[in-house]
This record gives sequence, C-alpha cells and structure tokens, in this order.
Amino acid sequence: MKIAFIGLGNMGGGMAANLVKAGHEVNAFDLSEEALSAAKGNGCATFSDAREAVQGVEAVVTMLPNGAIVKSVYTDSVIGHAPAGAVLLDCSTIDVASAREVISAAEAAGYDMVDAPVSGGIAAANGGTLTFMVGGTGEAFARAEPILGAMGKAVIHAGDAGNGQAAKICNNMLLGIHMIGTCEAFAMAQKLGLDPQTFYDISSVSSGQNWSMTSYCPVPGVGPQSPSDNDYQGGFATALMLKDLRLAMEAAESSGSATPMGARAAALYEDFNGAGNGGLDFSAIIKML
Ligand code: NAD
Repeated sequence: MKIAFIGLGNMGGGMAANLVKAGHEVNAFDLSEEALSAAKGNGCATFSDAREAVQGVEAVVTMLPNGAIVKSVYTDSVIGHAPAGAVLLDCSTIDVASAREVISAAEAAGYDMVDAPVSGGIAAANGGTLTFMVGGTGEAFARAEPILGAMGKAVIHAGDAGNGQAAKICNNMLLGIHMIGTCEAFAMAQKLGLDPQTFYDISSVSSGQNWSMTSYCPVPGVGPQSPSDNDYQGGFATALMLKDLRLAMEAAESSGSATPMGARAAALYEDFNGAGNGGLDFSAIIKML
C-alpha cells in the first residue's frame, strides 16, 4: 500500500520504518528536518508539506504529541486532501473528546478512521512489537488492522471511536497507581528492616504481586532487568506518565468518574516531574518516597 506517515519522532520514526520493511511505500512528513532525514534513511519518501504527502495514498497514519496538534493536522492537511477512499489511523495518545471529534469530522467527509494509541515504548516501536488499542467502526477496524499489524504484535478492537484512547488512559492510570503503591511498599519494607530481595521473593508470589513489581521492579538489582538497573534511564519517561495521568483526570472529570487514587497518582507525578525528573523512567518516583 501507499501510506502517508505524519509525525516521525521517537515513536513514529520506528513505526514508519516497519511499514517500509513490510513492503509498503511510505510518504513521510514531519516539521523536524532531523526526523525527516532519519525517515529518508529508513526508506521513506519525504515531503515538506503534509498536504503533498497525503496525495494519492490509501492510508494515513499519524503519531503526534497531543490532541490540539492532531486536530489541526487532520483539519488543515488530511481531511479533504487525502483521497476519498483512504483509511485514517491516529496512533497518538490524546484526550478522548478530541479523538471523537476528529473521527466524526473524518466520517462526515466520507473517510473510515480509527484512534489506535499504543502500549509499548520506543524499543517496541522500533522492534514492531507495539500493542494497539483501537476505537472505530467494525469496517474501519478491519481496514486498519493489517496496517497496524505491520507495526505491532497485538491489535485489539476496543469498540467505537475514542475507545482506544479510553483503554489507553484507564490502563496507564492503573499503571501509575500500582507503580506508586509498589514503590511505597518496597520503601517501607526496607525501613522496617526487610531486605528488598526477600520482600520481592515473598510479595511476587503473594497477593501484592503486580506488573510494576514483577516486570518493572523500581528497586535496582531486584526482579528482571528494568530501567532501575540503568539508573532509571530509558524506559517510560515520567513526563509521559504525567501526560497520560493528566488525560485520565480530564476524562474522569468529563465522565463524572470517581478516581481518588488516580488523582493522587497524578499529583505525586506532578511533584516528581516538577522537581526536574521528567526525563527519568517513571519507576524513579521511588526516590521521592
Ligand atoms: P516525539 O515528540 O518524539 O514525536 C512527535 C513528532 O511529531 C516530532 O517529530 C514532531 O516534530 C512532530 N510534529 C509535531 N507537530 C507536528 C505537525 N504539526 N506536523 C507534523 N509533525 C509534527 O513524541 P513520541 O515520543 O514519538 O510520541 C508520539 C506520541 O506517542 C505521543 O502522543 C505520545 O504520548 C505517544 N506515546 C509515546 C510513547 C513513548 O514511549 N515515547 C509510548 C506510548 C505512546
């Protein structure tokens, strides 16, 4: 297929390269010259204008920083500019309301469109092992699935438009909460005189077990290899966790959901990020506890 890819940053760069590897012809557009030249090196055709990049394509994939940018890119350069039969896929993490607004504008103009945010970081984007959570009609999902399959290991239909974003922020709110809980438990165990490895050996096979403990332990040298073993470099940046928690809090407010634990997690990550730790992996919040 001929596919336009807009937003070739940390995540989009690797994703576009995987579309090329799968045999697709990829038209790349980004505001950053550096991102464009890397895309060229990965076999993409590069464009200096998004409207030109979407000419004659069968699909458009976007991987952009936030909802306002996604809205402006679709309104200014995709809807009404990509061919009428093209399928549109937004893989960015954005607020549910913006996702639904863009999809409804695309559908009104006759396009099939999905929101398809991802789980997995830069390594998964480069390795083609992302998980996509997809919102949209059955028909839009069926058209998007093979394209997403070339960039990931799992593609899951979450329901109607915006439900991919809903799944993403609910999952990441839960992740933020159980990471903080795990950090608190390890910190207190240590203050009570319990060796972290011993606590891990007990809790990882008891009812406190969770992903933040057994796959991503915040204590260096305990559990499988994780960013804590690399001085909290790499992994999932605190600033990105905070972005997702802010989106979760917006969604909680607009849907009238009670999320006291999510709100506390968001406040703690605001503090940790505000203290200059935005670039550290989110498990580094153990330092603050
Ligand atoms: P990034 O900042 O590295 O990349 C975003 C790219 O979009 C940049 O290259 C930027 O130049 C480009 N861009 C911005 N405005 C544009 C415009 N108007 N037109 C064209 N290009 C434009 O960010 P990233 O880490 O690649 O994240 C992208 C999305 O993926 C975000 O929504 C993020 O929340 C989500 N995400 C990131 C991770 C991660 O680990 N980095 C994991 C899961 C989801």
